[in-house]
Amino acid sequence: PVIVNELELNLSASIGIAMYPDNGDCIEQLLKCADKAMYRVKQEGRNSFQFFTQDVTGVTLERTLMETQLRAALENQEFNLYYQAQMSLENNSITGLEAFVRWQHPSLGTILPAKFIPLAEDLNIIIPMTEVAVRNALIDLTEWRKYRADFDVSINISASHFIEGQLTQFITGILDEFNLPTSAVKLEVTESAFIDDTKVAIEQMKRLNSLGIKLSLDDFGIGYSSLSYLKAMPIDVIKIDRSFISSIGKQRADEAIIETIIVLASNLEMSCIAEGAETKEQIDFLVSRDCHLIQGYYYSKPVPSEQILDELKKGS
Ligand code: C2E
Ligand code: MG
Ligand code: MG
Repeated sequence: PVIVNELELNLSASIGIAMYPDNGDCIEQLLKCADKAMYRVKQEGRNSFQFFTQDVTGVTLERTLMETQLRAALENQEFNLYYQAQMSLENNSITGLEAFVRWQHPSLGTILPAKFIPLAEDLNIIIPMTEVAVRNALIDLTEWRKYRADFDVSINISASHFIEGQLTQFITGILDEFNLPTSAVKLEVTESAFIDDTKVAIEQMKRLNSLGIKLSLDDFGIGYSSLSYLKAMPIDVIKIDRSFISSIGKQRADEAIIETIIVLASNLEMSCIAEGAETKEQIDFLVSRDCHLIQGYYYSKPVPSEQILDELKKGS
């Protein structure tokens, strides 16, 4: 570690290596190969080294292709949203919907976010992408609210976007434009937002909170789950990660963690949503432990917005 102004900074290196003369006979060629090898190290979690091989070229080519297509996808409006219901079992109704982005690729079909969000972050297009998603979610929400005025929509915000200065302004601006109250949206953010710049992330949270915008801590329990952050953060909802929920009835330790998170949320006066419930057994366990807010395939997979509108029109 290096100490700078009393802060301890941990540096790591991602190293790509190219060999003369196998990988090239001029500096440009060698640097190009070393650069490609370095990209591979970064993709695989950084802080390591990699020699250049033809295999690396394959991956890099694929990545370059994806990069070009992802940039074009934004322009061509190939992203759309699917929504999953957030159920309240206390009054047996839907309280809101979480939006998930999908890439409708012209030849590959539907691509899930895990495949392209990290790349969108690297390419610095995550912010315009999210801004489009928020706009589309508010268009859908406005339609749904004609039938259910209490619906809200939860939107996933990447860590890098969350610590960016303009987020609060953007959200309040667009809510104003749609004439929606701040209670109409919830922002979901994972703990990784606090690792890079805790102070900035907490300041952002406080700004959003002071304006009445609710915040959910996504995937709770699998990251660096620092309890002291919880105290400092104006969080409204803790979301228990699906990996714990899927172990209900199988792993007592995971059940114990779920029970603890539920009590922790309650004592901190936060709501608690269980993510990814798929079976009746999981639901029964959660309800018996006083967790009444549940999301998961058991109730519904994410569906296109028209399907939600259809259900609302039918009054179901
Ligand atoms: P997340 O926000 O924790 O979302 C939960 C993921 O689990 C979603 O996957 C959802 O479709 C899936 N899921 C929900 N219920 C169940 C279940 O019962 N069983 C199983 N097996 N899966 C379930 P998805 O849509 O692939 O999204 C993955 C992650 O990508 C999200 O995790 C979120 O972190 C990120 N993401 C999705 N949409 C966006 C977006 O618009 N912007 C950003 N920045 N990230 C997004
Ligand atoms: Mg989420
Ligand atoms: Mg989650």
